[in-house]
Amino acid sequence: MQNTMNTENNAPNAAEERPLNFIEQIIEEDIRNGKNGGKVYTRFPPEPNGYLHIGHAKSICLNFGLAEKYHGKCNLRFDDTNPTKEETEYVESIMEDVRWLGFEWEGEPRYTSDYFDQLYEWAEMLIRKGKAYVDDQPAAVIAAQRGTPTQPGIESPYRNRTPEENLRLFREMREGKYKDGEKVLRAKIDMSSPNMHMRDPVMYRILHQPHHRTGDKWCIYPMYDFAHGQSDYIEGITHSICTLEFEVHRPLYDWFLDQIVEGDYRPRQIEFARLNLSYTVMSKRKLLELVEKKFVSGWDDPRMPTISGLRRRGYTPESIRNFADRVGVAKRDNVIDVALLEHSVREDLNKRALRYMVVLNPLKVVITNYPEGKTEMVETVNNPEDPAAGTRQMPFGREIYIERDDFMEDPPRKFFRLAPGREVRLKSAYIIKCEEVVKDEQGNITELRCTYDPTTRSGSGSQRKVKGTLHWVSVPQALDVEVRLYDRLFNDPDPAGHKDRDFKEFLNPDSLKVLHHCKAEPALAGAKVGDHYQFQRIGYFTVDPDTTPGHLVFNRTVPLRDTWAKIAGKQQGK
Ligand code: ATP
Ligand code: MG
Repeated sequence: MQNTMNTENNAPNAAEERPLNFIEQIIEEDIRNGKNGGKVYTRFPPEPNGYLHIGHAKSICLNFGLAEKYHGKCNLRFDDTNPTKEETEYVESIMEDVRWLGFEWEGEPRYTSDYFDQLYEWAEMLIRKGKAYVDDQPAAVIAAQRGTPTQPGIESPYRNRTPEENLRLFREMREGKYKDGEKVLRAKIDMSSPNMHMRDPVMYRILHQPHHRTGDKWCIYPMYDFAHGQSDYIEGITHSICTLEFEVHRPLYDWFLDQIVEGDYRPRQIEFARLNLSYTVMSKRKLLELVEKKFVSGWDDPRMPTISGLRRRGYTPESIRNFADRVGVAKRDNVIDVALLEHSVREDLNKRALRYMVVLNPLKVVITNYPEGKTEMVETVNNPEDPAAGTRQMPFGREIYIERDDFMEDPPRKFFRLAPGREVRLKSAYIIKCEEVVKDEQGNITELRCTYDPTTRSGSGSQRKVKGTLHWVSVPQALDVEVRLYDRLFNDPDPAGHKDRDFKEFLNPDSLKVLHHCKAEPALAGAKVGDHYQFQRIGYFTVDPDTTPGHLVFNRTVPLRDTWAKIAGKQQGK
């Protein structure tokens, strides 16, 4: 049975606890008033000129989330009015990313280019009504005549052409009689409007460029403002949610709708603050530059804030959706600490990732009182957060690897790991004591010689306690794996925010460290691309697609240390 909700088919799902955000308030009020038949229909309208990033994820979660919450629909619409920058590769990646986040659009994906005929019809209609005209002036003159916010603009000398002449010229534009930039079609609104966007904005420009979908059919293309609201109208969108920079475009959005709306139905534009993240750039132009100039390996480089990059890094859809939810919907621009994103993935992986032992920087330990050639299996817990995950067996023997950092020859007082004469516990195995340090001729430590206490096997009921517990891997069975450690791509909180300095100056030179010959316990042999793991005491990792048979490559998603929880804890006085 479907629900306990009240009978209105678009009443919110019951489980919601948090207060309504301002967009939900607007929607609920519209539903109460029976606006647009009480329906909720949203859309996510990316321009296919790059890969989606975490800011888009916010918009996707918002638009698809509202449709889900109010039992409405959400379209995926490719806003492909600019033929010069758009590519099919981007269309494919966008669809993949939206689905990966866990959303499905209504019907087929839509394309603004599918509406070019209808938009053209409306343009002719505006011309006939005397509300649009062809201007022969170059772009720079038109721009100069627009005036300033405090000074009215100047009317174009072509403004008062007759509808007949405008129609003829506009059709000639369409037929390809003119070169790029020779003429434009403008709306005839008000050159002295206090809103600059209302000063006879350009509706169509000439671009002799093939389009990824319409080919050579058109050599004039509509501007965003002349396309967006009308596309909303064609699709029956009720709430057209966009970012704050479009607030000043809203009167124009409404003006164009006024010209075409018949009947009661009408879409409404609502603006919210775009997501900004610290230590990140999010403009597609900048991300494209990083890709093209090879500062990163591609759009899906695990350091990129793209959805495909985050996926490869080991982020889960749930962690991104939770993050989007936590960030909320703001009316004013703000910057979100990237530590909150990292916290969200840590929190999700803590619940689901199985724990394994992997030594990144191996140091060999020989347990001198352990029989040569003997292997025993010890039991270890797969995930202490999830009893259903069970246990597994790990081989233990005379030679093991530990982390080089877990040994110090001359340790400071608070170092509770291994040192000469000191004892530690090997997790799920025995207590060992360091008896001897072996060095090469240069004085580098090559091996430790230890003894173990056979009465201290984990699970045997031994009461002996030591301060430190180390992870380890048995030498003969160890898998040789590659591990890529990622850090933030930029070492400045606002890389794009510096006057006179290029954002690339703030690239973090240590954002990628590749470790070869790390040692993993044999149970990881079956790891599949995209699997998530916690490497004990180190962090969360995922299997990279560069993995080949016999050569496992792991990406570090995040280290274990949670800077966000620390900050949040401090703020709450913890
Ligand atoms: P960019 O500035 O990176 O080029 P854009 O806004 O031009 O981004 P679009 O493809 O036009 O990119 O965006 C599709 C949708 O995603 C739009 O509705 C846009 O408002 C929204 N969006 C883009 N960036 C963000 C962001 N940082 N936060 C929230 N929503 C965003
Ligand atoms: Mg845009």
